[in-house]
Amino acid sequence: MKLLVFFGLLAINLLDLVFGACPRIYTRAEWKARAPKSVSYLSNPVSWTIIHHSASVGCSSFATCAKFVKDFQAQHMDTNLWDDIGYSFLIGGDGSVYEGRGWSRVGSHTPNYNSNGLGFCLIGDFTSKAPATVQLEAVKSLIACGVEKKMISAQYKLIGHRQAKATECPGQALYNIITKWPPCPRIYSRAEWGARPPNGVSYLSNPVPWTIIHHAASASCSSFDTCAKLVRDFQNQHIDVNGWNDIGYSFVIGGDGSIFEGRGWDKVGAHTPGYNSNGLGFCFIGNYVSNTPPDAQLNAAQDLIACGVDLGMIASNYNLIGHRQAVATECPGQRLYDIIKALLTLPRPPNGVSYLNNPVDWTVIHHAESAACSTFDSCAEMVRQFQNFHMDENGWNDIGYSFVIGGEGSVFEGRGWDKVGAHTPGYNSIGLGFCFIGNFFSVEPTQVQQNAVQELISCGVELGMISGDYNLIGHRQAVDTDCPGDALYDIITSWPHWVNVLRLE
Ligand SMILES: [Zn+2]
Ligand SMILES: [Zn+2]
Ligand SMILES: [Zn+2]
Repeated sequence: MKLLVFFGLLAINLLDLVFGACPRIYTRAEWKARAPKSVSYLSNPVSWTIIHHSASVGCSSFATCAKFVKDFQAQHMDTNLWDDIGYSFLIGGDGSVYEGRGWSRVGSHTPNYNSNGLGFCLIGDFTSKAPATVQLEAVKSLIACGVEKKMISAQYKLIGHRQAKATECPGQALYNIITKWPPCPRIYSRAEWGARPPNGVSYLSNPVPWTIIHHAASASCSSFDTCAKLVRDFQNQHIDVNGWNDIGYSFVIGGDGSIFEGRGWDKVGAHTPGYNSNGLGFCFIGNYVSNTPPDAQLNAAQDLIACGVDLGMIASNYNLIGHRQAVATECPGQRLYDIIKALLTLPRPPNGVSYLNNPVDWTVIHHAESAACSTFDSCAEMVRQFQNFHMDENGWNDIGYSFVIGGEGSVFEGRGWDKVGAHTPGYNSIGLGFCFIGNFFSVEPTQVQQNAVQELISCGVELGMISGDYNLIGHRQAVDTDCPGDALYDIITSWPHWVNVLRLE
């Protein structure tokens, strides 16, 4: 009997070590929930997590918080006439967690996101004061737990309620906090990919100032199984052939964006002479001499580095280089090297930001009245020039446009979906501005560029950033300008949602 109990405890602790502990969740029975009027199920894992506040007084004990949760349920069912309490989970000021609809049931928390997201409500009013640390930590660990349980996608996105509809929720103070929560990507642990133990370990002094990009000059892979097999091959070669203590790289990234822990964040690797004791080495599986890495792989590497900064493992003013900048090698391949070089010219941060009330009702089409571009590098260079001009010459806070679209259909985030731009007087706080790179007085944009803008607008509607019955106009319909050029203007007048208006009001 004693042995069994001991074994049970040990097993639980080991699971906690591998999977991270889920917080204690008070069940519906525990807070004495009413039965739902009806239930429908999510298709997990979901892609979205949405943060709310209850805009009520706070609570800091099971008794008071459970009472609030019961009150919310009564209001949602009896006044709002919903099937059940709206939220997926609720979190008290003491960090206690209450099951609302739970992981797998569709909630009523956020229009457009209910069937592909989970809504987390922090009990309290966080308009001007921030939640307690214990309450914030509880939400974070609850979401991490959802990822581990595969209820939430490892690539999930997190937003505040106000990013989905016009509402103050989750309060300005809480909103300011969650915008600084970049979720770290899922990292497959050494145990998960079947690593051999290292022959020796030495530790870095984090945060490190250098990040070094490699390619494996290997076959590519696009599933956990095939990538994990390659990572084991690399480790075997590094230990058995090169005589190193362990796999050389800090992290290895598969073509599908899967991330494998090599030496990890805090251990000295064997990836780049001169940088091993003050840097981290990131290896792209595949051969990128002439092939372009998939977006999933590039995004995963960037998310991973951002996560390292967030965790305090990489200095926030870190330097990024390719292996070839340290020693004579082709690595990371010419094509990947070209891409990371472009990343080095990062956009300037804005001088100020203000937020839209999404979804917005207006979309405004512009042309840049510039030269055309047809590659990522040349288009990105032009977008940076627009930003410099708008900030330095016009004195604006940032590039004026919400999005900029290159001749080959590449889409560049300007102010993005949810920030007020400086593109169209009268429409900046109620609309989004889309700029075609090029000059379209007499020449028409390429079909691929036109398609990219239309797809981008449809995407904005799907994301709840643009209302479904939005209006579309050309810049010239708002102010005295030729923009977006006669040829492009003629085209957009036949687009869906174009409206024949002149000047607002
Ligand atoms: Zn809300
Ligand atoms: Zn290398
Ligand atoms: Zn314009």
